[in-house]
Amino acid sequence: MKETVVSGIRPTGKLHLGNYFGAVANFVKMQHDYNCYFFIADLHSLTTHPTPSDLHGYVKHILVEYLACGINPEETTIYVQSDVPEVAELYLYLNMNAYLGELERSASFKDKIRSHPDNVNAGLLTYPTLMAADILIHRATKVPVGKDQEQHLEMTRTFSNRFNRLYNNDFFPEAQAYNFSQNLVKIPGLDGSGKMSKSSGDGNCIYLSDSPEVIRKKISRAVTDGGPAEENQAKPEAIQNLFDLMKIVSTPDTLTHFDELYSKMSIRYGDFKKQLAEDMIVFNTPIREKIEDLSKDTVYLRQVAKHGALKARESAHKTIKAVREIIGFKSF
Ligand code: AMP
Repeated sequence: MKETVVSGIRPTGKLHLGNYFGAVANFVKMQHDYNCYFFIADLHSLTTHPTPSDLHGYVKHILVEYLACGINPEETTIYVQSDVPEVAELYLYLNMNAYLGELERSASFKDKIRSHPDNVNAGLLTYPTLMAADILIHRATKVPVGKDQEQHLEMTRTFSNRFNRLYNNDFFPEAQAYNFSQNLVKIPGLDGSGKMSKSSGDGNCIYLSDSPEVIRKKISRAVTDGGPAEENQAKPEAIQNLFDLMKIVSTPDTLTHFDELYSKMSIRYGDFKKQLAEDMIVFNTPIREKIEDLSKDTVYLRQVAKHGALKARESAHKTIKAVREIIGFKSF
């Protein structure tokens, strides 16, 4: 039997290269060998209070972009999280055994308190239990995510093991974070620090749907410095980030070429950025063109979402039925 894989992305905007290399590229590679469920995490996105029309538009973006990247809806179950109410039911059960202290210790919750002190809602606090419900609803064992989600996965294991212990069974398997290329990846942004992330602004991200002109502009504005001060010096973070991006879109020869120029102190950042932008455009173009085509095909998108919801609910229903029995809910 094929192992089950689950992962999702919050519809809070368009997909960027971090989402692609941290998540979607793995979805595409895994779909042949695993029983895959890839969803659009619209329940999660409610923590930031999108308007109804924004919410629908963002869900459509992700659906289109999943398909444009090569996820095959015949082979894989693609669904919208809110189409599967069993997820919300499992989330409720898991919340009964999730403790305030452990939820408050989550790094992403602490981050959110710092960045949005005016909106510290219970949905943010219980984000890890909803994520656990997403995974456990299909009893998945592998979760393709970026390095930023490692701690949440650890919490999923805590919740599933606790459930098993509490009810003295082994119903839920242990889910592990997964990346096709061995190590979990972190794609850096363009602002000189940290990871590529929508919350750091559009200038920090290259979106899959960005046009060549936008990519050139964003890369030309990426943070650099005054250049290397001595031969063979280590690269500061902002420069290393751009080299890391080059590593994923350019050929090894190109990377070596600029690496050598940097070591010899003869690199010109203008040329380096131009090459990076052009290679990024070559990478992006086929996906962007598919995004443009698919966005117009409403009938097909509706059909994919409906088919995915049916398949996801079939699997979710089985889990919820068993969980209800384990907990002790019985009909009279
Ligand atoms: P989010 O946009 O936070 O909902 O993330 C969706 C998926 O993309 C998760 O699996 C993340 O691990 C992954 N992801 C987001 N940003 C990055 C990044 N900069 N590097 C690697 N993976 C990322």
